[in-house]
Formats: sequence, structure tokens, C-alpha cells
Amino acid sequence: MNFGYREVCLDHDTGPRHPESADRLRAIRRGLAEYHGVEYVAAGDADEELICTVHDPDYVEEIKTFCQDGGGNWDADTVAVEDTWKAALASAGLAEWAALSALEGDDGRETPFALGRPPGHHAVADNAMGFCFVDNAVVAAQSALDEGAEGVAIFDWDVHHGNGTQDICYDRDDIFYASIHEDGLYPGTGDVDETGTGDGTMTTLNVPYDPGADTVDYLAAVDELIAPEIESFDPDLLLVSAGFDAHRHDPISRMRVSSEGYGLLTQRMRELTDRCDAGLGFVLEGGYSLDTLTDSLTTVHEVFDGYQPSQPDGSVSEDARDVLDALVDQGFGST
Ligand SMILES: [Zn+2]
Repeated sequence: MNFGYREVCLDHDTGPRHPESADRLRAIRRGLAEYHGVEYVAAGDADEELICTVHDPDYVEEIKTFCQDGGGNWDADTVAVEDTWKAALASAGLAEWAALSALEGDDGRETPFALGRPPGHHAVADNAMGFCFVDNAVVAAQSALDEGAEGVAIFDWDVHHGNGTQDICYDRDDIFYASIHEDGLYPGTGDVDETGTGDGTMTTLNVPYDPGADTVDYLAAVDELIAPEIESFDPDLLLVSAGFDAHRHDPISRMRVSSEGYGLLTQRMRELTDRCDAGLGFVLEGGYSLDTLTDSLTTVHEVFDGYQPSQPDGSVSEDARDVLDALVDQGFGST
């Protein structure tokens, strides 16, 4: 794969005990060094004017000034230093590169993956939260739409609900947002009945699984609901908000997705974008065990190098089936 990466993303220093640290990117790069076919691309910053079409310009000015003044604790979890805004512009720029590269037809071994930080999917229209300042995936989607894409789908497999992405896209008909997340985890949003509003009615699809959901449950959500709904939306581009914190060995969740599971989800996304004739790009979100973050991400890379992940055993859990049934009651899956 082609990986978007810039050193400035390491300069967003969250302190010694913060899970979202620069060591995440260092670990990923060490892991990728063992594989063939890894190319790095240094994209430019995202334009602040573009960011202001996704976020409230007053908020953008406020967070930029906060960083320029030396940063500090924006909230209990979300920490900034002076270089955080530079890292945020770079991280959004890498996501934008991934979107435009995929839209222009880079696929197969050239498939783009933006390795930026800070992550993005909790940043709402007018606020930073949950380690996120700029919603990188939505900035990237907006850029693709500005370049002529007629629709963009964002599939968020991070274990947390991407409340920021949902917030920004909730009333839009040009971005379809689907998320699988652990019910009850931060930030507490993403119920099955949050399906969009106005022009965006039924363009938000939330799969809030109970703790313990595994690869089989994730694949069922994709196969039965998410892939068919995205195929019916018929996007020109699919972005994966790729957090790896639903891994069974991640310290901050109780989900049980395996590294092979991320490979299988990746295969599903490839097949889906082939059917839609859409571009496919990846944008890093969370993932806090350095070993499993690296192992999962390298499995994604290997899939684009021809690797066939092994199929999981077992059947869909009763808890997961209840959630999928509730989504069918909302009107999903009938297309
Ligand atoms: Zn997360």
C-alpha cells in the first residue's frame, strides 16, 4: 500500500501516559519495515479554508489560537501543545491525499492509507474532543466531493462511535456514514435509531454491539447491512475510518476482533468498492495496544499484497443478532 506519513504528526505531544501517543506511529512504521510493497508519501497540509467548510470557523480560530498560545488540556482527554495545530493540518492533509489518490484510481498495491495523528472521528463541527481536533475523514470526503465525487461513504470500524463524523454529516445526502462500535463506550452516541435527518435521512447507520462482539459479528454487520446499504448509496469513494481498538487485545475495549478479522473486513471493502466502481482509501483513527495496532494494520497491508486471511469459526451471537434485527426494523437492509 501507499502510506501517507509526515514526521510533524509526531510533534503532537500528549504527554507520558496518554494512550494516543506518537509511539503509535513509530510502532506502525517499525512493523511495516518488515514488509514488501510499502511506499511512503508525504502529502501537504489540508487547507484551513477547506477545514472551515467542515468545522465552524470560530472553533477553528479558537483551537488554532489555543495551540499557538502553547496548548494545554482542552478537555480531560484532549491535550494540545504548540505543534498540535500543525500536526492536525498535516493529519487532515494526509487523509485528503488518501481520498484524492483513491478517487483518481490508485488501488490494489497502490491503495492509500493515511497514517496521521491526531485522529479525527470525535471532532464535532464546533469542538475538539476524544483526542480529535479536525475530522480528517470528513475533510477528506469534502475534498473528494469538491473534486467531483458524487457521493462518499465512510465506514468507521474504530471501536468508538465516530460522533464527530455523524454530527457533521447527519443532515447530508452526499456522505453515507456507517459505524460499528461498542455500546456504552465513549462518547455514548450511535444508537440504532440515529439514522440521519432531513436530506440525510437514512444516510447514517449505527451498529452498537455489546461488549464481546467478535469478527463473525462484525462481518455479519457488513455483509447483511453495511455493504448492501453502501452499494445502494453508490458512492464514488469509500473511506475507512480505520481504528484498531476493537482488537481483542486492545486495552481500552472489550470487543474481540482478531488481526485476521481486520484483513477480512478489508477484503469486504475491496469487494464492495469493486462492485460500486468506487475508490478505496484508509484513514487511521484509534488503536492503543502498540503490538496489535501494528499487527492489524500490517494485515490490512498484506491483503493488498495478495494475502488471504483465514475465516473465523462460529456463528453470529444472539446479542449481535438483536442489534441487526433492530436495524432491519429501522428500515435498513431492504435494498
Ligand atoms: Zn477508538
